[in-house]
Amino acid sequence: MSDAGPSLIDGFGRRIDYVRLSVTDRCDLRCRYCMAEQMRFLPRSELLTLEELAGLADILIARGVRRIRLTGGEPLVRRNILALVEAIGRHVGSGLDELTMTTNATQLAPVASRLRASGVRRINISLDSLNRDRFRAITRRGDLDQVLGGIDAARRAGVAVKINMVALKSINEDEIETMVAWCGERGFGLTLIETMPLGDIEEDRTDHYLSLDMVKRRLEDRYTLIPSLHRTGGPARYFDVAETGGTIGFITPLTNNFCDGCNRIRITATGTIFGCLGHDQRVELRDAMRAGGREAVDRALDAVMAAKPRRHEFDIARSRPAVARHMSVTGG
Ligand code: SAM
Ligand code: SF4
Repeated sequence: MSDAGPSLIDGFGRRIDYVRLSVTDRCDLRCRYCMAEQMRFLPRSELLTLEELAGLADILIARGVRRIRLTGGEPLVRRNILALVEAIGRHVGSGLDELTMTTNATQLAPVASRLRASGVRRINISLDSLNRDRFRAITRRGDLDQVLGGIDAARRAGVAVKINMVALKSINEDEIETMVAWCGERGFGLTLIETMPLGDIEEDRTDHYLSLDMVKRRLEDRYTLIPSLHRTGGPARYFDVAETGGTIGFITPLTNNFCDGCNRIRITATGTIFGCLGHDQRVELRDAMRAGGREAVDRALDAVMAAKPRRHEFDIARSRPAVARHMSVTGG
């Protein structure tokens, strides 16, 4: 374990104890709201090695980070990713409260038990439709049965599952109630997400933007949503669903600003640290880390804290994305 250093506190007094660490920008799917069909991915040589990622996690934990979420791109397509999960997982319970992952679950089935054994107790899985054809259309290539197999394996391995569903007007909005019931029956949390203007995707996101305030009103015709005290420091507002006993979260960056309680930073697979998903403010870590080790990483983290923006500036009505990089680069 690295020596403890000062906690990460930004210029607005927010304590940063949560990091989303992207391990690759690559993915085996091409979800329409996330990526263009012809995505160009980064050369592998530009990525931090797994050892560097593990070393970085050590330093983050030494600086007071209590939760790390591995993401991407699709984290499970990174070769040997389980070695990184095991390395970071060793801190769970001694320094780190939680190690989680966001995945599309296409490759989850064979590794679910090992993830659990390495310290992953919860996992977020993207699932935008329970209809095979529609799932394939949204992801441009995904096989729903493979994903459902991954979800089932996680459940059997004792990993708590939360489903992320991006709410898309005239694409899957008619399935939201079904998804609430499906998750309720299985004991999965459900988080609904508004599309965010991140990166060019060859189509106009405004066409499929669906306000979650409206979705919530519609759900309330059928379900009793009781505001929950559950808070993650993130953009979701949570409700208990009386009829299913489940929970539902709404991630509404566009209709509600959630930045005051922000507790997180994001680090890309190439070692760029972003203080905010919706800004270009960044600090490059990789070359400094290779040349200057721990001290350089500390300096980079301090620079991010000094410059972390107060709030994002998303606006779906703008014709251009708020920031040019895709969610798959910054890490969702
Ligand atoms: N591949 C993994 C997955 O899909 O779960 C992890 C990375 S993905 C970028 C993380 C989350 O971001 C997913 O739940 C996805 O649905 C969401 N996402 C991607 N692009 C988005 C966008 N433009 N607006 C809102 N959510 C987005
Ligand atoms: Fe891949 Fe996740 Fe983006 Fe879909 S949302 S293309 S699964 S990174």
